[in-house]
Amino acid sequence: MYYGSRAIILKSLDYQDADKLVTIFSEREGKIRAVAKGVKKPKSSLRAVLQPFTHSFLYLSRGRDLDLITQGRLLDFYPRIREDLGSTLYTAYIMELLDKSLVERAPLGPLYNETLQVLNYINDKGAKSLVIRYFEIRLIQELGYRPVLEACAACGQKNLTTRFNLAEGGVLCHDCAGFLKTDFMLSGEAFSLLKFLQRADWKSLDRIKASSEALSSLEQLLEKYLEYHLESRFSLKNTIYQLKKSLPGAFDKG
Ligand SMILES: [Zn+2]
Repeated sequence: MYYGSRAIILKSLDYQDADKLVTIFSEREGKIRAVAKGVKKPKSSLRAVLQPFTHSFLYLSRGRDLDLITQGRLLDFYPRIREDLGSTLYTAYIMELLDKSLVERAPLGPLYNETLQVLNYINDKGAKSLVIRYFEIRLIQELGYRPVLEACAACGQKNLTTRFNLAEGGVLCHDCAGFLKTDFMLSGEAFSLLKFLQRADWKSLDRIKASSEALSSLEQLLEKYLEYHLESRFSLKNTIYQLKKSLPGAFDKG
């Protein structure tokens, strides 16, 4: 069976001979692993089309284990992301996050569009940690793990604390906080920011002012929450931490 779909290239690895093994997030089929023949040859027309975090239209033929990419056309290469180390690393982290969290052949149209939005945003305006947090929140929501913040995640009461419990998937009330574990303590500002970002859209992001403390608190919470649900470490995020340490001032703080 042959089919065509828009796709975001998550990962591209060397395979047999001049072939590549490519992991894509396709609009039509969700995450797919596919082989592209002869891509490493200099004249291959698929070379540019299959670079990581490229947006392409691909033609594929379905295989038993792996699909075969037969043709492709470039839709967007996001050149400004590639010119900037910080933007490149943040984008690589997003690709890693998608690769680890998506299930093969489970289409997620809304998340596909959110991913295009974040790529366009970073390409136009550069990487900001607020934007990465926003994307993580969209991802969590589309995967069906939206944190409960309006009422106690355990009992539904409204007398809330900002104590977050991972297993219950949200904040606890004063009663439940007495006997359930606090996995993460949010500041008042970080709690408001999380609540706001859950309802925000891409257009409103530029108007949000958040302190670096609130952003870093949210980063830690979302990392724990993603790990809890996805049960895997995100190696590229560690790479970003390492680079942040070695290149002070090279990364956007807000
Ligand atoms: Zn409660």
